[in-house]
Amino acid sequence: MGKKIKGLVFHCSDSSFGSATLIKGWHVNERGWSDIGYTMVICNGQVENDTYMSFMDGAIEWGRDIDKEAAAQRGFNDLEAVCWIGKSGTFTISQLEAGRRVILYLIEHHGLIPDKIYAHADLSKEKPHCPGIDIKRYVQKCINLEPLDEFVGLVWN
Ligand SMILES: [Zn+2]
Repeated sequence: MGKKIKGLVFHCSDSSFGSATLIKGWHVNERGWSDIGYTMVICNGQVENDTYMSFMDGAIEWGRDIDKEAAAQRGFNDLEAVCWIGKSGTFTISQLEAGRRVILYLIEHHGLIPDKIYAHADLSKEKPHCPGIDIKRYVQKCINLEPLDEFVGLVWN
């Protein structure tokens, strides 16, 4: 994949649990889409309603083929979509660090411009809580290799 990435949009699943497989099921079966809408999913460890696996906290799963348009943000589907599993603003430090790895990799290898990284809320008035963190500030902290603790909304006990 040598594709230049035009932009990146961060979402949340608005569910307390999930995985790329589960979300694909929701998008295909409930919305009638041909595939999962997101390019990538970042898990929180709660992979199913009743199944927690700590090694999946921060795991990055592949979603829709990156050569196909995303389907997660109407009008902006030429941008890639990343979905953190969780309700608005309730992400673990491992998920936030995984997002940092995605951002830094795409900047370095796929020409992603930091100004082209958005929250879904930045693009849609109908989604003010998606994903529920200040993405511009988050991106700045990611790039500066600064701690991301201020964005943590969920700590597993
Ligand atoms: Zn969204």
